[in-house]
Amino acid sequence: MDIAERFPHLPSRLQGLAELSFNLWWSWNPEARELIRMLDIQSYRATQHNPVHMLDILPVEALERAARSPAFLDRYDAVMARFRKDVTDTDGWFTQRFGPSSLPVVYMSAEFGVHVSLPVYAGGLGMLAGDILKESSDLGLPMIGLGLIYTQAYVWQRIREDGWQEDVEQQLDRTHNPLLPVLDEHGEPLRVRVPAFHPPVHVEVWQAAVGRVPLYLMCTDVEGNQPWDRTITQRLYAKDLEQRLRQEIVLGMGGVRVLDALGVSPGALHLNDGHPALAILERLRAVVEEGHAFQEALEKVRSSTIFTTHTPVPAGTDVFPFPLIEKYLDHYFRDAGLDRDRILSLGVNPKDPQAGFNMTVFALRMSRFCNAVSKRHAQVAGEMWSEVRSDDSGATSIEPITNGVHLPTWIEPLRLQPALAERLGEDWKDTQDEPDTWQQVADIPDGTLWRVHNDRKATLLPQIDARARRAWQSGDVPAANMMGFGALLDPYTLTLGFARRFTSYKRPDLILHDMERLQRLLTDPTRPVQIIFTGKAHPADQDGKRLLQKVFRLAKDPACAGRIAFVENYDQHLAKYLVAGVDVWLNNPLPPLEASGTSGMKASVNGVPHLAVLDGWWPEAYDGANGWAIGEDSSADDRTPADADSLYRLLEETIVPLYYERGADNVPHGFVQVMKAAIRTVAPAFNSRRMVKEYCEKLYGPALRL
Ligand SMILES: *Cc1c(COP(=O)(O)O)cnc(C)c1O
Repeated sequence: MDIAERFPHLPSRLQGLAELSFNLWWSWNPEARELIRMLDIQSYRATQHNPVHMLDILPVEALERAARSPAFLDRYDAVMARFRKDVTDTDGWFTQRFGPSSLPVVYMSAEFGVHVSLPVYAGGLGMLAGDILKESSDLGLPMIGLGLIYTQAYVWQRIREDGWQEDVEQQLDRTHNPLLPVLDEHGEPLRVRVPAFHPPVHVEVWQAAVGRVPLYLMCTDVEGNQPWDRTITQRLYAKDLEQRLRQEIVLGMGGVRVLDALGVSPGALHLNDGHPALAILERLRAVVEEGHAFQEALEKVRSSTIFTTHTPVPAGTDVFPFPLIEKYLDHYFRDAGLDRDRILSLGVNPKDPQAGFNMTVFALRMSRFCNAVSKRHAQVAGEMWSEVRSDDSGATSIEPITNGVHLPTWIEPLRLQPALAERLGEDWKDTQDEPDTWQQVADIPDGTLWRVHNDRKATLLPQIDARARRAWQSGDVPAANMMGFGALLDPYTLTLGFARRFTSYKRPDLILHDMERLQRLLTDPTRPVQIIFTGKAHPADQDGKRLLQKVFRLAKDPACAGRIAFVENYDQHLAKYLVAGVDVWLNNPLPPLEASGTSGMKASVNGVPHLAVLDGWWPEAYDGANGWAIGEDSSADDRTPADADSLYRLLEETIVPLYYERGADNVPHGFVQVMKAAIRTVAPAFNSRRMVKEYCEKLYGPALRL
C-alpha cells in the first residue's frame, strides 16, 4: 500500500507527515515530537501519542490550518529535512568504523518495545530490543528486526475489588498501529509457509519502520490456516506448552523463511534470548541442502550466530519435552536429512538431561558469540551453564555486555533534554558515550534542575489520574478501588516508584515487611513518603498475583492514608512519565536473580536516583554518591529481614532528611547533588550507544568478518 493513499485528506504541502507518522523515528526526535504535538495537542494526548491515529481522526480543517501556519511549516520543513537525511544517510558511525556494504544483522526477538503504539512487548527484554533497533538506526548499523505480532494484549490487567488481578482478554486493534502489510509482487499480502507444520501454516508479514531499521512482524491469524493455528500468535509467550513450541517454530523457523521471501541474506543472526533459537535449525537445513556435510553446516551456521541470555531464573528458560519436539520436527528432520539424535542432543542440559530440549542450551551450543547483560550476570550465567560450555561442540564463553538505554527515548524530552542541551551543547547525543560530555551536569544550577524535576512530577500525576478515569469510565471498577489508583497522591511528597513485573524474586513486598515502620514513614505529618507501584503478574504466576493483591489492599487501606498507589496496566507510556516523575526509583530483587534491570538506568539518567540492592547492573554503577545501595552483599539463607531493615534505615536516616532539607530557596541542595551524580555517572556508561558499539566490536564485527 502506498502510504500517501492512507490519508486522502492530508494537504499536499504536508504530504511528508504520512511517511513521518509511519516511521517511529518521530518518537525519539524531540523536534518531530514537538511538530506532532503542534499539529493538535488534544488528539496527541487522546491517542497516547500516536500520529497515525491522529491523522486518521483529525478533521481536514485542522490539517489545513496547520498547512497555512508559518510556524508549523517552518518546523515541518526542518523536521522533514532531518528525517530524510537520518533515514537515508549511509555514512554513519558503523560505516566509518567498519566500512560500507556489510550484510545486515538480523535481530530476532519475541518482543519489541519500540513505542506504546506498537504493543508487541511485555517488559525489559522487549524494551531492550526496541532500544537496540533505535540505536542501530542512529549509528547506521545495517540491522533488520524480526518478530511476531499478536492479536491480543499480553496481559490486560483488571484488579478486582479484593485486589486479585484478572487477566482480561483484550483484542488489539491494528487499525491505527504504525504498520504496513508486506505485499508480494502481485500487490497481495505476502504469505510465507512455515516449515514443519502439517497441514501447512502460513504467516503474513507486517512492517514497521524504526528510523532506517525495518522491523518485520509475522502473524498466523490469516485466512486458510486452521483455527488452532490461527491462534499461534494470539498472545506473547503462549501459556500452553505445546502452543508455546508452535509459536517458537513460527518465530524461529518461519522467520528464516520470511527473510528468504524478502530476499534478505543475513550476515549474522542475533537471537534475543532462547525463543527464536529454532531459526538455527532452519538455517542448518538450508546449508545442508546446499550440499554441505552436517558438521560443516553446523560450523557454518554457528560462526554467524549470536545469542544473548537474559535470565538466571529457571522459569525464564523454555524446555520442551522430547516427545513434543519429535511430534513437530520428526518429519522435518527426516525430509531435510538432518541427524535427529545429534540435533536433539544439542539441546540437552547436562545438569538435567531428562528435562527435555532446552532452548538456551541449544542456543549456547550453536552460537559462536554469546553475551550476558551485565558483568554480574555473566558470572552467574557462566556458572549456571558451565557444563554446557565444556561440550565438545566448542567452548563458548559468555561475554558481559551490560545493557544500556536509548537516551533520546528515555531522557524526558520537553524539559530535561533542553536543559542538558544548554549545558552540554546541542550535539550531546553524538558524544553521549563519553564521560567528558556529562561533566557539565554539575554546573546546572540546583534550582534549575529542581524546577525541571518538579515540572515533570506535575505531569506524572495527571497521567495516573487519566488512567484511573479510563478505568472508572469503563463502568466495571468498584468504587472502593478508585482510592487505590493514586487519587490521593500529592506532588509535594517524597515519591518512590516501583514498576516491574510482579513476581516473587522481585520482592515487591520488601518495603511492606514491617508495616508499623512503613506507616510511620508514610504518615509523618511534615515529611511523608508515598509509593507508586505498577506492574503486571504473569497470568500463571499465582505468587505474583498474591503479592499484587497485598500491595493493592494496602493502597486502599485508610491506615496508609492514600500514600500507596497501584497503577493498572504498566506500559511504555506510563514508564516514560514514571522514570522522570518520581523522586527515587526503588528496586529490590533477590540477588543474583536480576540479570541487569534497565528501569533504574532510565530513572538515573533523568536524575531520579536509584535505591536498589547491589544486583544486575547496579554494582557496576554505584559509587556511594549517585544513589543508594540496599543491604549487604550477603548470601544469607534469608536476607529479606536484613534488606528490609536496610531499606527503612536508608529512608529514615538519609533519603527523607535529604529530600526535605531545603535551602532558603526551597531547593534541597543535598538531594539535588545525588540527582546530578546519577545523571553524570550513569548516562555515559549505561546508554544503548555504548552497548550497541560494544555489540559491534565484540559480536557483530567478528560474526560479519569485518
Ligand atoms: C524499562 C521497562 C521495563 C524493564 O525494567 P526492569 O528494570 O528491567 O524491570 C519493563 N517494562 C517497561 C514498560 C519498561 O519501560
